Amino acid sequence: MQPDRVFNFGAGPGTLPLPVLERAQRDLVALPGLGVSPLEVSHRGPWFRDVIERAEADLRALLEIPASHHLLFCQGGATMQFAMVAMNLAGAGTSDHVVTGSWGAKALAEAERLGNARVAWSDEAEGFRRVPSTEELAGAISSDATFVHVTSNETVQGVGFPHTPIVPEHVRLVADASSDLLSRPVDVRRHAVLYAGAQKNAGPAGVTIAIVRDDVLKDVPDQVPTMLDYRTYVDHGSLYNTPPVFAIYVVGLVARWLLDDVGGLEVMRERNRGKAALLYDVVDGAPHFFRGHADPGSRSLMNVTFRLPSDELEGRFVEEAAKGGMIELKGHRSVGGIRASLYNAMPIEGARALAAFMREFRDRYAD
Ligand code: PMP
Repeated sequence: MQPDRVFNFGAGPGTLPLPVLERAQRDLVALPGLGVSPLEVSHRGPWFRDVIERAEADLRALLEIPASHHLLFCQGGATMQFAMVAMNLAGAGTSDHVVTGSWGAKALAEAERLGNARVAWSDEAEGFRRVPSTEELAGAISSDATFVHVTSNETVQGVGFPHTPIVPEHVRLVADASSDLLSRPVDVRRHAVLYAGAQKNAGPAGVTIAIVRDDVLKDVPDQVPTMLDYRTYVDHGSLYNTPPVFAIYVVGLVARWLLDDVGGLEVMRERNRGKAALLYDVVDGAPHFFRGHADPGSRSLMNVTFRLPSDELEGRFVEEAAKGGMIELKGHRSVGGIRASLYNAMPIEGARALAAFMREFRDRYAD
């Protein structure tokens, strides 16, 4: 760690790998041999062509994306994907939504604006504490759904699917993987669309990764606006208009870091499991002081959410942690409590420091 950097547990934009930041810093004023900044360089020139091609190739290698799937760099965040998915896939039919938290609810609301959408399964009444079991899911999805939308990791509640949800073969699976893409291997093949805003595990805000299966493209209605039509990105290699050059360049650096420094997504998953276990162990070890939000079988490896005995203690926890160099621990305003986001670039030392602080805080304040 650099002495002037803190452990940033923010949910997004999240912490980025230090080697990536240092490389971007070196390149920022003048790219070697070019004399211009990546903030100034042409998106049509050879430097950026190489950057975007390499970023795509590296992401394909990391995620083992099959040839049947296109990898697109979009803008508008994951929020725009809520609309793009509905516009490109829904046709005249109805989409089924599995609502396991705040983001899934937003995706549903957007699909409702644009056409017909229904709730296939929701845990809202219980406060979004778990994902459905495979059997529950199988019973919930209608045979005529045009697609099923899931959120693989709910960033606000800290609730995640342990594996890619199983849906009937003929139903297109769409997953918002904004807060867990690249944190572990994923079976891309089983998805019709898999998308993620970059600003958690993949890079800075400003670019959204969309992985779209080829068969989806043949059903896109022709009235979909150009920039909301997946075919535009496929036909133009994500270069129909000016793309977010700098954000894609940083995504490329993160992908290289995952390949070269980390050693791939299996290794990353083990590291992420180890970090999350440090915090959940403290929660489970003091259940009268820390109350975990998610049911144990649905716990997120990325966002660890828990409550303390009172709002006052929660405020004190956030404040004291910040003084100790651990920032952004306040839970989302809609659920309160504490949320510690442990994205790929959070080092194990950060999780250890937080676990130690949690124990020490409990010792001081438990009755
Ligand atoms: N889905 C999930 C799971 C998210 O965590 C977020 C952002 N926190 C979004 C969607 C919205 O992403 P964006 O801000 O990129 O539109």
